[in-house]
Amino acid sequence: MERNITVDSITYLNHNVMHLVAQRPKNFSFRPGQATELALAHPKWKDEKRPFTFTGLPEEDALEFVIKVYPDHNGVTEQLPSLEPGDQFIIGDAWGAITYKGPGIFIAGGAGVTPFIAILRNLVDRGEIKGNKLLFANKKERDIFYKEHFENWLGDDFVNILSEEKTDDHAHGRIDSNFIKAQIADFGKYFYVCGPPEMTKDIVGILRELGVDEDKIVTEDMD
Ligand SMILES: Cc1cc2nc3c(=O)[nH]c(=O)nc-3n(C[C@H](O)[C@H](O)[C@H](O)COP(=O)(O)OP(=O)(O)OC[C@H]3O[C@@H](n4cnc5c(N)ncnc54)[C@H](O)[C@@H]3O)c2cc1C
Repeated sequence: MERNITVDSITYLNHNVMHLVAQRPKNFSFRPGQATELALAHPKWKDEKRPFTFTGLPEEDALEFVIKVYPDHNGVTEQLPSLEPGDQFIIGDAWGAITYKGPGIFIAGGAGVTPFIAILRNLVDRGEIKGNKLLFANKKERDIFYKEHFENWLGDDFVNILSEEKTDDHAHGRIDSNFIKAQIADFGKYFYVCGPPEMTKDIVGILRELGVDEDKIVTEDMD
């Protein structure tokens, strides 16, 4: 079912990631990790639906989204920054396969971290964050977002890796087998993977090679 919802605020978390807070419709529910189809409430754009993840908590009054804007796509995300408080946009029902099953390693690329924001927030709220770790891949340091939250929630179990920049603070390169082996002691835990489709596919392949059980790998369905 589609619903019109009203923008409360838009702020920026870095140079191209916006934080959109909107009013939550009555009786709307979702699980941490789930997404919805979002469209602009404009005749030209209302049929252009794109998936975005709820980054707030189900019991909160507001709905939150963290959205990476791609000006070069001439698509929906290029339009979203023009929204203002009081404007409306459209969302559908909540859907998605990524859900928390137990302590583990969250592996994210760029905006793929959004389902993990909601899941980790929920764990912090319940006092159950211990035993979880986040590996967050981005191109450059300026692309990292939600850093302070992840540091507060996870401490040393928040690890950044940058593919296009060398810094003193972060690992450099891509998430490959050696990086995963260096970061993970227990391959019996859950592995949650979300990023661009190619990255997700590669990492799931690596995890399988490293002997991780199929039922311990959690992704948005790929095959
Ligand atoms: C389940 C799920 C949840 C998601 N949750 C989030 C989230 O919470 N936050 C978030 O930021 N993202 C999220 N995404 C990704 C998000 O849906 C896409 O980034 C978004 O759909 C992009 O929309 P767009 O209209 O701006 O561009 P697109 O629909 O990607 O592209 C519009 C057009 O631009 C062109 N184009 C495509 N790629 C390129 C390129 N690389 N260079 C130039 N032109 C290009 C194509 O012609 C395309 O038709 C999620 C994706 C999924 C599957």
